[in-house]
Amino acid sequence: MDGKAVAAQVKQTLKEEVEYMKKVGVPPKIATILVGDDPPSKIYLASKHKAAEEVGIASENHTLPGFSSEADVADLIDRLNADPSVNGILLQLPLPQHIDGMRMIERISPRKDVDGLTSANMGLLFYGQASLIPCTPRGVMELLHHYKVPIAGSRAVIINRSTLVGKPLLHLLLAEDATVTVCHSKSRDLLGITRQADILIAAVGRRPQFSVTREMVKDGVVVIDVAMNRVAGKLMGDVDFESVSPKASYITPVPGGVGPMTVVMLMENTLVAAAKQHNLNKASVLQR
Ligand code: NAP
Repeated sequence: MDGKAVAAQVKQTLKEEVEYMKKVGVPPKIATILVGDDPPSKIYLASKHKAAEEVGIASENHTLPGFSSEADVADLIDRLNADPSVNGILLQLPLPQHIDGMRMIERISPRKDVDGLTSANMGLLFYGQASLIPCTPRGVMELLHHYKVPIAGSRAVIINRSTLVGKPLLHLLLAEDATVTVCHSKSRDLLGITRQADILIAAVGRRPQFSVTREMVKDGVVVIDVAMNRVAGKLMGDVDFESVSPKASYITPVPGGVGPMTVVMLMENTLVAAAKQHNLNKASVLQR
């Protein structure tokens, strides 16, 4: 599965949708917040702003010093919540240790929560009603749809139970009638579970200690590798691509799989948020 190519296609569609929104007087805009100067966070943010520029979404970044108080961050979020020109707010994680991440996420207006992480949007996801869905799970589903992978009735196994990845994916796959198993570090007989998977989603990020090997998958499996591990300076996923790919009907590479999809889904969420805020119910973005 070529995440880069699929992301490029989605970007093209989004570009046209942005044009339409500008014509009707709703130019979409995303604001990002960085607290401190974590180098990987800066790299992720740069790719998000680049994607925004490519699709024509206005973007602005607000950097606060790492010693900022929770009140400083909350004030900035309040200002962006109240600014009608800002449609989406992204708080780059992780935050410095002295700041309560959950409290800051909850401060973001659910209508502008383009990461889909507020309890309001998570609750809607639980009910199958969410329009702002966490970007990585949304990107995984988009890849499965693009390659027409049968989901209904399939057995999907997710190795991850985080709020960012595993839990939203559980709901998205369930909503499309998969039988879903969620595994984690305390799961017994992981190999026995993963071997049954028609769709295997790995997002552990503990390489070299953990990797998905040939013995762990069955023939014809669809493998989605979400993880990003840096081993000896090289970026790799959880899956031993060389040995697993001959058994797989589809597999995502790292890099070039889920990563590019995540960024483009953030842009899609920004359009969804902008369209909803202006009651643009006919915008095609809402029908995707
Ligand atoms: P996380 O919160 O650390 O979650 C890791 C999950 O793996 C946890 O559920 C953990 O179980 C489980 N795990 C750890 N060791 C295991 C083992 N030996 N066997 C089975 N499960 C094990 O990390 P995250 O934020 O969800 O991210 C996961 C990975 O995805 C990272 O590599 C991250 O960089 C990557 N990621 C990529 C993108 C992208 O755009 N491509 C986006 C988000 C995240 P416990 O819950 O029991 O600890």
